[in-house]
Order: sequence, then C-alpha cells, then structure tokens
Amino acid sequence: MPEYIHRSLRELVRERANHLCEYCRLHKDDAILGHQPDHIIALKHGGQTDQTNLAWSCALCNSFKGSDISSIDPVTENLTPLFSPRLDDWNEHFRYEAGSLIPLTPIGRVSERILNFNRSDLVQLRLVLSRIGRYPNE
Ligand SMILES: [Zn+2]
Repeated sequence: MPEYIHRSLRELVRERANHLCEYCRLHKDDAILGHQPDHIIALKHGGQTDQTNLAWSCALCNSFKGSDISSIDPVTENLTPLFSPRLDDWNEHFRYEAGSLIPLTPIGRVSERILNFNRSDLVQLRLVLSRIGRYPNE
C-alpha cells in the first residue's frame, strides 16, 4: 500500500530525476502509466520516507521491484542488492544496446531480472524512443 508522500518531497524526487525512471530511464511522458516515488528500501524493511530512500520510478519498475531489495546473482550465486539510484551509478551497472539494458555487474544482473528490464515490448519501445531522441542511449 503506497504511503502518502508530501507533494514537495514528490516534486523533489521527480525533478532530481529529470522525470526519468531512475531504474529503466523511461521518461514520464513516454509511459502509459504514471511515474511514482519508489521506496528503495521498502518501509517493511525499515526504509524511510525521505529523499535519501526515494527514487522516481515508472509504474512497471515499481511494480516488478515491489518490496524486494536483493536477489541471488545467477553468476556468482551470491545474495546481491538491487540497484540503488541513491548509492549506485547507472552507467556502472548497465549499458544500453539496441533497446536492451545490458547488465554489467552482479547488481546489474539481479536488477535486470527482478525489474524485467528486457521484456520484448519494453525493448521495442526503447528502440522507437531512441530513434526519435526520446531515450538516453549514450
Ligand atoms: Zn522504469
């Protein structure tokens, strides 16, 4: 159940992210469902509702992530935290390639799998958006 997040805090999180999902980098104007603040560490795990624990997220990333905070990396078989937009550098963990978000690290691998980054419809959407300059593809 989403907790009420004050409008000023919501705006801070949205503006800090330049309206992009901080997980998959989809712009809010290109999403069918609205973006929303995500508790990086869910409230049930002790996360707080403050700017250090909130990320701007598309509805799909937020839904797939749920309250998850880690998973088992399929390569190292280690318990690995999910990508944190507040702690981690996106470009260190992912690379854009032809619509796909390629994981580069254990954090990237578990996040790509849990958040379902490379569903075929999302890959196709990124390809189209990239061609018209609406998706960051550097
Ligand atoms: Zn997203």
